[in-house]
Amino acid sequence: MIAEVIVDVAAHPIDRPFDYAIPKRVEVLAEPGMRVKVPFGNRKVLGFITKMKESSDFDPKRLKPVHELMDVTPVLNEELLQMAQWMKKQTVCFEIDALQVMVPAALRAKYEKRFVLNATLEEIAPPLRPYFENRSFIRLQDAVDVYALLKKEMDKGTIVADTDIQQQTAVKKVRMIHIAETSEVLEAIEIRANAKQQLKLMEYFLKNTGQSIESSQLQKLAGVSLPTIYSLVDKGAAQISNMESYRDPKLLSTIEHKESLQLTGAQQTAFDQIESALNTSKTFLLHGITGSGKTEIYLQTIDQVLKQGKEAIMLVPEISLTPQMTIRFKERFGDQVAVLHSGLSAGEKYDEWRKIQRAEVKVVVGARSAIFAPFQNLGLIILDEEHESSYKQDDSPRYHARDMAIWRSEYHNCPVILGSATPSLESYARAQKGVYELLVLEKRAKNQPLPAVHIVDMREELRNGNRSMFSVQLADAIRDRLEKKQQTVLFLNKRGYSSFVLCRDCGTVMQCPNCDISLTYHRSSEMMKCHYCGYDERVPTKCPECESEHIRFFGTGTQKVEEELAKVVPEARVLRMDVDTTRTKGAHEKILSAFGEGKADILLGTQMIAKGLDFPNITLVGVLSADTTLHLPDFRAAEKTYQLLTQVSGRAGRGVLPGTVFVQSYTPEHYAITLAKDQLYEPFYEQEMAMRRASGYPPYYFVVNIQFTHEDLMTVAEYADQTVRYLKGQLSPNTLIIGPSASLISRVNNRYRYQCLIKYKKESKLIDTMQQLIKIHRTEWLKKGATLSIDMNPTSVM
Ligand code: ADP
Ligand code: ZN
Ligand code: ZN
Repeated sequence: MIAEVIVDVAAHPIDRPFDYAIPKRVEVLAEPGMRVKVPFGNRKVLGFITKMKESSDFDPKRLKPVHELMDVTPVLNEELLQMAQWMKKQTVCFEIDALQVMVPAALRAKYEKRFVLNATLEEIAPPLRPYFENRSFIRLQDAVDVYALLKKEMDKGTIVADTDIQQQTAVKKVRMIHIAETSEVLEAIEIRANAKQQLKLMEYFLKNTGQSIESSQLQKLAGVSLPTIYSLVDKGAAQISNMESYRDPKLLSTIEHKESLQLTGAQQTAFDQIESALNTSKTFLLHGITGSGKTEIYLQTIDQVLKQGKEAIMLVPEISLTPQMTIRFKERFGDQVAVLHSGLSAGEKYDEWRKIQRAEVKVVVGARSAIFAPFQNLGLIILDEEHESSYKQDDSPRYHARDMAIWRSEYHNCPVILGSATPSLESYARAQKGVYELLVLEKRAKNQPLPAVHIVDMREELRNGNRSMFSVQLADAIRDRLEKKQQTVLFLNKRGYSSFVLCRDCGTVMQCPNCDISLTYHRSSEMMKCHYCGYDERVPTKCPECESEHIRFFGTGTQKVEEELAKVVPEARVLRMDVDTTRTKGAHEKILSAFGEGKADILLGTQMIAKGLDFPNITLVGVLSADTTLHLPDFRAAEKTYQLLTQVSGRAGRGVLPGTVFVQSYTPEHYAITLAKDQLYEPFYEQEMAMRRASGYPPYYFVVNIQFTHEDLMTVAEYADQTVRYLKGQLSPNTLIIGPSASLISRVNNRYRYQCLIKYKKESKLIDTMQQLIKIHRTEWLKKGATLSIDMNPTSVM
C-alpha cells in the first residue's frame, strides 16, 4: 500500500501530498487521518496520511517507507480531511496548517501512543501474552511486529489504544497529604523529643486522622515547613499523592438538572421554524436583543437534536465562556456536554476531545476551535454572538468559524443558527437577501424594560468648565448608587494602540482628505497619518473648523481613570479589569465573582467587561468615551461602536431593579451612538450600509488584506510596490487595489510593515492569483528575509 502524506514543513514549495510506502506489518492499521513520522530530506518529520492507494506514479522501488505510525485510530476523519482541503483554498493557507489547527493542542505536544490491556492475559492471543506480562501496556513503537494481532484484539475490546501525554506545560498538580487512618499507627511512630516541628505536626495529625489535605494548606494550618511534612511521611504517618488541580468532576454532579422553560410566543415562533428545518442545511440568523431568550431557544433546539440521536456544536466567544454560561448547559444536558474553555490544560482539552470522538458526549460548548469537534453525526451548529471578531483566527490559517460551520452544515445536512443582538453587517445583509433566514425576538423574555440610556455631550461639559473625564450627571449617579449600595460598571472604550486628534470644543476629528477615515496620531513624530493612502500632516495648533485651541490627541488608560475616580468617590471600592489585571490564569473569573459577591461598588474595565456580566445589583453603567472606537481608522468603526454600546447597556437592570446608562461622547449626534441608545438596529443597518456602499467596503465589496514585512524599510516598500503592480496586471479592471502603504503599526520587532488592500465584487482569478503570489514569495522574497501574509475577508484592516 501507498500513503499520500501531507508533511509538516510549511516553508518550501511542498504544499502537496507526497507518496510513501507503507511497510507490510503496518498495513493493517494505517488509515487516512492518522499521523505518521516520515523521512523528508535528511530528517524525519511529522505528517498526516490523507489518502491510501494501491499504486503510485513514482517508481515503487524508490519510494521511501513511512518511518513510524503515530496513531492507532485516525485523529481526523474523512469529513475533516475534506474540509482541510477546502480551507486551504478559502484562506490561502498551507494544507498542513489546516490539518494541524483541527487537532487538539495536546497532539502537537510530546506524547506517546500505547496499547493497554483491557482483559486478563488469558483472554488475548497467546503470541501477545509475553508483551503484557508484568505490565499493563506496551508502547506503539515496541509493538510493530504484532500490529495485526493487536488490531484483532482491539476489535474485540480486549486491548484498547491510549495516549500518554508528556506535556511540557505540565498539568498543574497539587500535593495532597493523606493522614494515617488511625491514631494507633501514629502513636507507634517515634519522634525525638527535640524535633519540635515534627511533634507539632504529629499533634495536628492526631487530631485529624484519616483526612486529606493540600500540603500548602497543611503547612499553614499546622505551622510547619514542607521538609517536616516529608519527614513524617517517611516515617509512615501520612501518604503523599499528586492530584490535578483543575478537574472538577464533583462540581458536575452537584449541578441540578433543570427542565426547559415554557417558551414565550416569539420564542416559540422562532423555535418552530428551526425545528421544521432540522434536517436541512439552512442557516438562520436569530436577531434578538440582549435578554430576549436566545439561549433558551438554543437549549431547546439542541434538545430536539439529541432526541433525533444527533450531536450539536455550540460556539461562544471565549470571553462568554463564563461559569454562568457553562452551568446553564450542564443543568440542561448533564454529562452529555463537553466544555472546551481556555482554563483547561492541553491534556484536559484532549480528554474532552476524545469524549467527543468516541461520541461519549453529544454537545460541545466551546470557543472558535470547537468548530472542529470530530462529531460524526452532527445535527446542529450554533454561533452565539456571531458578530464577534474572535471567531476569526488572526494567524494562519485565517479561517472564520462561521464559514467552517456552514461548510459542515452542508456536509451533514443540518442547520446553523447565528445568534446576535447586533448581527454583523455581512450576516444581516445575507438575511435581507434571503441567503439566511431571519428570525426576530423584539422583547426581553421576562418583559423587563430596556435600561434608560442617556447620552451626555462632553463638549457641553467642557463649556461649563468641567475638565474631568466624568460628566456631572455620571458623577452624581455614581454617588447616588454608592449611597443606595447598588453597583456600578464603568466602561472605558479603548482598543488597539491608536489614538486620534479631536477638537474638544466642536467635536471635529481630523480626517484624511482622500479616505473618509480618521487620521492616526503618532506621538513620536507629532504627525497625523492616514494608514490607507499614506497621507500625513502635522497636528494643527487650531481646530480647522472652529479655530479653538483645545485640539489634542485622545486616548486614556484604565489606570488614569482609576486615579480620577478616586477623586470623585474616594470611599468607593473599585475593581479594575483590563489586560494588566487579568494576565494570570483565572484572574478574569476571580474579579467577576468578587464583584458578583458585592466585594466592590464599582467595576472599571475595558471591552472585556462588555459581555457575560449578569448581576442583578448592577443598576448603573457608564461609558466614559464612546468615541474611541468610532474614530479608529477601520471600516468597521461604527459597527463596533454600535455593538459595544448595545452590549454594555445590556449589563444594567438585569434583575428587578431598573437600570440606567450614561454614554459620554464628543460626537453625540453620530448615528452609531444615537441609534444604539434605543437599540434601533434596523435604522443603524440602513445608514451604515449606505456608508459602506459609498466607500466600497463589505458587504458591498469583498476585501483582502495583504501584509509584507522586512527588516529593511526600502526592501519592504519595494516588495509591496512590485506586488501591487503584479496584482494590477492579473486582476480584473473592476477590482480596486489600494496602497501600498505603511501599516498602522509600522514597525514591530524591528521589522517594517507594509500592506495593500484588494477590494472586489467578483474576481474569478483571485484564488489563483493569491496562490501565484505565494509561489513568487517562496521563490524570490522568502530568501531575502521578507514575510507575506494574506488575509481573506479580514475582520479589520488596521
Ligand atoms: P439571551 O441569550 O437572548 O441574552 P437568555 O436566554 O439568556 O437571553 O434569557 C434571558 C433571561 O430570561 C434568562 O434569565 C432566562 O432564564 C430568562 N428566560 C428566557 N426564556 C424564558 C422563558 N420562556 N420564560 C421565562 N424566562 C425566560
Ligand atoms: Zn473645533
Ligand atoms: Zn487616506
